[in-house]
Amino acid sequence: MKNIYLVLLTLSFTYGFEYNLKPKKVTEGVYCFFGKLENINKQNAGNMVNSCFVQTKEGFVVIDSGPTFSYAAQAYDQMQHIAKLPVKYVINTHDHDDHWLGNSFYKSKGALLIGPRTYDQNIVAGMTTRMQSVLGETLYAKTQIVKLDTIVDDNLTLSLGKEKFEIKQLVDTAHTKGDLVVFLPSQKSLFVGDLVFNGRLTSLRDGSLMGSLNALDKIDAYHAKYVIGGHGYETDTNATKQFKSYLLEIKEEVQKALDDDIGMESITKKVMMPTYKKMKLYDVLHARNVLDAYKELEMIEDDEE
Ligand SMILES: [Zn+2]
Repeated sequence: MKNIYLVLLTLSFTYGFEYNLKPKKVTEGVYCFFGKLENINKQNAGNMVNSCFVQTKEGFVVIDSGPTFSYAAQAYDQMQHIAKLPVKYVINTHDHDDHWLGNSFYKSKGALLIGPRTYDQNIVAGMTTRMQSVLGETLYAKTQIVKLDTIVDDNLTLSLGKEKFEIKQLVDTAHTKGDLVVFLPSQKSLFVGDLVFNGRLTSLRDGSLMGSLNALDKIDAYHAKYVIGGHGYETDTNATKQFKSYLLEIKEEVQKALDDDIGMESITKKVMMPTYKKMKLYDVLHARNVLDAYKELEMIEDDEE
């Protein structure tokens, strides 16, 4: 009995939190860990984000490394059950911390880190991340901020084990400034980070409504067989539909309110969009999204006048 306790104790020291990660196969060689459709909290320890990996003959390529060092370590263990191969590259789609805080683990395994310019600009060693504030030191243990090895401003093609990875910035500002997508032509799979949400609402806080819609058009133009977003479980050709409808409806309703001279103080009561109430995080994010859309569309209107 004593030994069992000792083993459990050792495990909990190694991992801190048991994420119970199970990779789901999307298509040949393409796997993801799909996170919960909720906000960061201590119970999920940041497992509310998608992190994917592609297996090639020479190693794995990870797309978004997840919320903590411990998460990435457990993800890596799961990869090693599939094949004993190194992780060669980690591609970060954008600078929101639920998507890249696993980087320090992969760096310790010798992977090269790739990401957008905004990661380099906004992520400073020693800063307290949002994840860190919510999770506290124990769950966040060993998680560190590490610099990128390669910055992508426009596009970059990586080759590994006969696979090509086409990394591209589709528009200037969509979910954030400088979001990257990764296309794997051999499997017609497109990893889009937070340019696509499904099953829960997005946050327009750091981005642009018009830029997001523009990015969605460009994503659809890939005619990919699989579109894998940063949050949500749908990866088929319908993956973008619900999200696009949501953004189009916000645009239409906010524009109409502007035309009717509705002021900013009453806009969130005016644009409730009740059909989306059942969506996860509606209560937390919708009103803020409407306000952000209002400010953006009002500014466009001012520019045109
Ligand atoms: Zn995210």
